Amino acid sequence: MVKADAYGLGLGPVMEALRDVPGLPEPWAFGVASVQEGAALRVHGWKGRILVFSPLLAAQLPEAADAGLTPCFSGVDLVRRWAQEGRQRGSSLPFHLEVDTGMGRAGLPAPDAARWAPEVVAAAGEGARWAGVYTHYHSADEPDLAATDRQRAAFMSAVAAIPASMRGQLVIHSCNSAAAMRRGGFEDDLVRPGIFLYGGGVGAEIRPQPVASVRARLVLTKEVPPGATVGYGATYRAEEGERWGTLSIGYGDGLPRALATGGGGVLIRGRRVPIIGRISMDMTTVDLTHLPEAQVGDVATLIGRDGAEEITVDEVAARVGTISYEILTGLTARLSREYLAG
Ligand SMILES: *Cc1c(COP(=O)(O)O)cnc(C)c1O
Repeated sequence: MVKADAYGLGLGPVMEALRDVPGLPEPWAFGVASVQEGAALRVHGWKGRILVFSPLLAAQLPEAADAGLTPCFSGVDLVRRWAQEGRQRGSSLPFHLEVDTGMGRAGLPAPDAARWAPEVVAAAGEGARWAGVYTHYHSADEPDLAATDRQRAAFMSAVAAIPASMRGQLVIHSCNSAAAMRRGGFEDDLVRPGIFLYGGGVGAEIRPQPVASVRARLVLTKEVPPGATVGYGATYRAEEGERWGTLSIGYGDGLPRALATGGGGVLIRGRRVPIIGRISMDMTTVDLTHLPEAQVGDVATLIGRDGAEEITVDEVAARVGTISYEILTGLTARLSREYLAG
């Protein structure tokens, strides 16, 4: 899954890295959310399959066909429109079908598969080729996997209701990162990992390697007298003489503003120091009183490893009451990306 600019990390370089993982075949497909994202992948040079997972409007189908995308449908009507598109082009255009087992936002209802499956086959006709069927788990990262196993059973019943002649031609997929790691991908043909590829956790027992780091320079240090204040609202006041440092990063780069009140810190020279005051758009202040060796020009790590210390993207997310996905996709264009080979 490389939707949302590869979870905020940069579609082109991430696609290239995932395409060329040493010892692994190319991905079976890349997954995106929109026609625009699919077209962008083509510009980056990917010639293989691209699945578009969010529902499309009928008006978007010609553009999807032009870019050679494989849409995912939640209804028979669009299958019919897609088949028309295929007939006009003299080809048979592939599509996948989503089965709703409780996620609720898209997909055909699992219990009604015996009704809609033959309708889908008929609607596809010559112009469209039903190539895959899938569902999406809503709670695979919860401690208790019972809900996931119930969704699994509902999905398998729906798949079993598809006419056997058709079923044999479909690739079957269901697992996000959490289900892929915690249920071994079940017995599916494919898995659809996203967050785990980018260093986000999928449940307490499995910890990913850090993938993305966020770093900024220490651009100013100063000694302050007792009573000095910092940041908008002057919410932090020095109790005694302190030494403060200013980092060239703020919420305008995607650093969550709530991190300051969430007890957030940064790593400098392998040591953790606290963020003080409110985070501004462009600057963040840290307390260096107990790190006298810190100097202007030092690199501060806001997410990632520095020596033996690590701040995970999940830690940052937890401190501000969100999930790793939102932190990564929230990193803004101003934060320049640097890609390390290998
Ligand atoms: C985003 C997404 C995934 C990936 O989920 P992760 O939790 O990031 O692994 C898989 N399938 C679909 C349909 C998605 O939209």
